[in-house]
Order: sequence, then structure tokens, then C-alpha cells
Amino acid sequence: MNENIAQKMARPAILNLKPYSSAREEFTGNEGIFLDANESPYNKPLNRYPDPFQQKLRERIAELKQVEKGNIILGNGSDETIDMLFRTFCEPGKDKVLSIAPTYGMYKVSAGINGVEYETVLLNEDFSLPVNSILEKATDNTKLLFLCSPNNPTGNRFDDEAMAELLKNFPGLVVVDEAYVDFSGQGSWVNALDKYPNLVVLQTLSKAWGLAAIRLGIAFASADIIQLMMKVKPPYNVNTLTQEKALQSLSEPQITTERVQQIISERDALMQSLEEIPTIKKVFASDANFFLIRLDDPGAMYNHLLQQGIIARDRSREPLCEGCLRISVGTPAQNKYLLEAIKNYSSVKTEDVPASNWTTVADYLVTPERKAVKERKTKETDIRVEINLDGNAKANISTGLGFYDHMLEQIARHSGCDLSIEVKGDLHIDEHHTLEDTAIALGEAFAEALGNKMGIERYGFALPMDDCAAMVLLDFGGRPELVWKARFKREKVGELPTEMFEHIFKSFAVGARCNLYIKAKGKNEHHKIEAIFKALARAIRMAVKREAGSDFLPSTKGML
Ligand code: PMP
Repeated sequence: MNENIAQKMARPAILNLKPYSSAREEFTGNEGIFLDANESPYNKPLNRYPDPFQQKLRERIAELKQVEKGNIILGNGSDETIDMLFRTFCEPGKDKVLSIAPTYGMYKVSAGINGVEYETVLLNEDFSLPVNSILEKATDNTKLLFLCSPNNPTGNRFDDEAMAELLKNFPGLVVVDEAYVDFSGQGSWVNALDKYPNLVVLQTLSKAWGLAAIRLGIAFASADIIQLMMKVKPPYNVNTLTQEKALQSLSEPQITTERVQQIISERDALMQSLEEIPTIKKVFASDANFFLIRLDDPGAMYNHLLQQGIIARDRSREPLCEGCLRISVGTPAQNKYLLEAIKNYSSVKTEDVPASNWTTVADYLVTPERKAVKERKTKETDIRVEINLDGNAKANISTGLGFYDHMLEQIARHSGCDLSIEVKGDLHIDEHHTLEDTAIALGEAFAEALGNKMGIERYGFALPMDDCAAMVLLDFGGRPELVWKARFKREKVGELPTEMFEHIFKSFAVGARCNLYIKAKGKNEHHKIEAIFKALARAIRMAVKREAGSDFLPSTKGML
């Protein structure tokens, strides 16, 4: 029989191993009285062991990455998949692995734990791969070659040709750790599994997916390699909570895509700003969500940043990284704070600056209040609007028009915002100016209170129905627009002329710089306009909702 590369590389003990067969593996149905695994019958659903083969999760990953489920094994973080590779392929005290320097530290630690010799080849000065030196160092016992791309801590993704040359010529398995690949804007080696039977690709949900806490690492390889690793993996290595959370996040990949885009554009802007700071001797190019900066005195900068509450990573003792700190890209607010802290270091020595001069970290990281006061005075109206988007639905409205007050109260009650509106208008002439100017001022108050719109949902919609059906779609995207699809037969509701309704919402849209789509149907005119105001309020409630502490901007344009 022809031995495949997986069998050729595997430890003999693993080739001959009969793996543990778990209860959940022997019977796989969902229905029945489970008396097979010595579990407690109480505390559902966490009383049951998790799916040992994570079938649903692997199916979803396979679909997302366009590979077969049989090409995937999951671990308790990449750190576990790295360890599994050692235990499957490297005989303690006999085999070796090869890697580059500098690189991610766990390959060496895992080698040490497993009693396997760890050898490195120094990267070229420009951090590129020294292909020939790597190949020259490989022996018959060198089972694995670890290549982290984009590499940690250097941040660069390795050239495709160099990688392909190593994959073709390295005698053992080539493990490409792609923990940071999503930030590179370039393809993954996952799609080359068919071409290279010795390729293993590692990915993780800890970086781009923002799920470091759940510990989910993914290894992709030929089915032969995966089957051998499956023998070694602890039976229930990925717990139920992790499997469920991962499935949920993987069902909405667009959220990750948007966040990755934001981190990439923040990274590029931050690096560009740092280039202009004289204390920084070099900002290294990056395909990851971190980058290196080189300084004359990295220790002093590290301490300076620490004093400001910022923790960077000192990599200055790593080969080729003399003088280097590694910085992860944060939220826009965090990056702004970092930049200011570094600039301050350039101009003054930390000791010379009284502590009170520094903006505290808390000032930057605390979620800002969303309040506004809008005063608008013309010859026709004198208006004061006060708003708190994060209020308790308190309303205090006085426009001089009872029915308008009643409608505006709906906005506060159903949006959850606190709203105070005081208007002195030229009602002795007619209602026109009061209705229009109040709607503009209210819209402007919303726009001001929303501020930079960081972290908001942006879109809202509502379809309330009493005896009337109203539909309001809302987008605080910055473009004023109204689509109005409601007809009124009566001339007035209360003292409000129905011909003014469209105008009120148009004025609001202009003031708030939002897109509004309004549609309503129903017999009772009072209920119909009330339903529209309520629906607007509900849509506002949804659109202004903000993830606590988040400053993620829901737009690919970089501003709203
Ligand atoms: N690979 C690389 C290159 C890393 O930098 C890290 C974490 N710093 C990991 C893997 C660890 O991944 P996980 O959280 O999935 O164990």
C-alpha cells in the first residue's frame, strides 16, 4: 500500500492507537432517555456532554471556507491545535520541528512541553522568508515547519512564491498559522489544500472574530492528516457554550467583515500619523491588526504609555526587533488616545508634566453622553429643544398646539428619549411656522445628540398597528430624504392641517439628516397620524441604540 504523507509523518504510537470511543459518539440521535454517559438528568441542556465532533460547527466552517468538513479539526484555541500537531506527528526525544525567528512563541513552548527539539532560521533583514536556509536545515526527522503568515510579531504576510517553494520542497508538514489572515486583505492558503498534501492551515476566532474568550481554533488539512489528529484530540475538547456562540457569530459574517474593514482603515491611518512623529524611527508595514514601531528607547516609551494606562508589547529583545514595541490596533477612540500619548512623549519628558495635564484614559473610554440643547429664534418662532437620547421617555412639550404636543409626546414615550420642547410661535398668523420650525429644531437636536454616531445601530423600522397600520423606515445615515405615502381626507386633525403632515416629517428629516420612508393606511384620521408618530418613535428607538462602550461606526465610508 502507498503510504500517504500523513502516515509517513505520524508517530507510530498514533498510527496504531485505538482512540477513545465516547458515549456521544456511539449513539448520535437527539431523542431518547440518555442513560449512557453517567451525566446528571438535571440542569438541561448543560448536563449533556458536547458533540465530540462538533458536526454543525464544522459544517458551517466548511461552508464558509469552501472546504470539506473532513478537512477540519477544532481545538480549544489554536494553542490546542498546535499541541495536537506535536502529539500526532513528533516523537519526543527523537523528532524535530523547524520555524522562523522571530515568530509566535507557542510553537517553541509546545515543542518544549512535548520533548521535541525546536530549531529556527532567522528571517531576512526585511522580514522575508530565507527559503534556501530553511530547506537546508530540514532533516528526515524534521516533521513540522511552522510559518506564521502574517507573522507575529513582524506583521508581514509572506510572499506566495516563497511559501509555494517551501510547500513543494519541505519534506515534512508545513503548518501555516493564519491567525491574522483576515487583516491582510489577501487570500488564505486554505484553498490550496488539494494542491499540497503536506499543508496544514491554522486559523482562530480569537482575532478578526473578536472571540478570544471562547477559545476556538481551527486546523485545515487533508482528510488523512485530520483523521490522525482526531485520534489524539481529547473527546470533548470544544465545549457546548463555545460551539453555540461560534455558530451564532459565524451566521453573521458581515459583522466581522465590517469590523475588520474598520480595523484595517484605523491601522493605516494610525500608522500614517505615527510616521510623522520624530521619536519614532520606523513604523513597519503590516498585514495584521498590529504593527511594530522602532524607537531609540523602547523601554522609556513603554513606561510612558503605561503611565497613561496604555499597555503595549515590548518586543525589543526578539531577534531583528531591536528597539521595537508591538502595538495592536484599537477602537478609533483608543487609537486617538494612543496617538496623543505618543505625541506628548515626543515633546516633553513624562516626569516634567503634572499629572493633571493629562487627559485620563477614563475620559476617552467612557461612553459619552448623548444630549443636546437646540435654541432656534427667528421672527416667526422662538424654540428651545432639549433632548437626551439615553433618557427615560420623559416628555415636557409645549408648542401652543394641543394636538401637536400630544404627537410629540409620542416621540418621547415610544423612543425612550427624554424630550423637552418649548415653542413660542406666531400662531396668531397660522400654525405653519410653528409646525415646521419645531420639526426642524427637533431634527437638529437629534443630529447633535447623535454626535459622531459611534456604536449606533443606524437603521430602525417599526410597524405598529392599532386600527391603523403605519410603517416607518429610518436611516440616520446623513442624507435627508422623505418618502411619504399617506393620504388624509379630513382637512384638520385637532388644530393641525393635514396638508402639513408631510411637511413636518420632511422638516424633521432635513434637521436630523436622516432618510425617512413613511406609509400609513386606516380609516380614522386621528389614529393614522398618531400611528405614524409612534412608528417614527419606535424606529428612532431602534436606530439610536448603541452598544455600550463601542465606537464602531456602522458605515464603510468611515463617517456618517
Ligand atoms: N497564532 C498566532 C500567530 C497568535 O499570535 C496567537 C495569539 N496571540 C495564536 C495563534 C493563539 O490563538 P488562540 O487564541 O486561538 O489560541
